[in-house]
Amino acid sequence: MKVLDLRCEAGHTFEGWFASEDDFVSQCERALVQCPVCGDAHVHKKLSAPRLNLSGALPPRLPDTAPATSASGSPAVEAAQLPAASTELQLALQQAWERIAKTVLANTVDVGDRFAEEARRIHYGEAENRGIRGRTTLTEARDLVEEGIDLMPLALPEHLKGPLQ
Ligand SMILES: [Zn+2]
Repeated sequence: MKVLDLRCEAGHTFEGWFASEDDFVSQCERALVQCPVCGDAHVHKKLSAPRLNLSGALPPRLPDTAPATSASGSPAVEAAQLPAASTELQLALQQAWERIAKTVLANTVDVGDRFAEEARRIHYGEAENRGIRGRTTLTEARDLVEEGIDLMPLALPEHLKGPLQ
């Protein structure tokens, strides 16, 4: 799973979750990536430094349909910047995230690209109620949340992927 900071032609910024960079490029070419604010499909990747993404540890936090707007008129974005010297803190966060990721892996079944389909089947009682994980698009994830389906973004540490994915 790759988290990308994206920006539309109108300057809205938002996060997109993709299987890989190539997945993002291919979805862009098919105009599947759209700005959650204005629906613009001309989406570009924002340049950003590598960062810890811990949002997967929290309840769903997808962009709201009506994002809080800052004084400048662009959507407000939550961000955290750790002091560069605090490697101890970064390590602690990384270890905590790994424990969470392992718990998720141990309690979910990988359904790959069928994530949205399976989540719906479970939600509507057409499939056994169980934990699943997999890949989906930001648009699809938003639709699922709007249908009342609980899901959370999941960015697995690279070394936990491998055969488990
Ligand atoms: Zn936009």
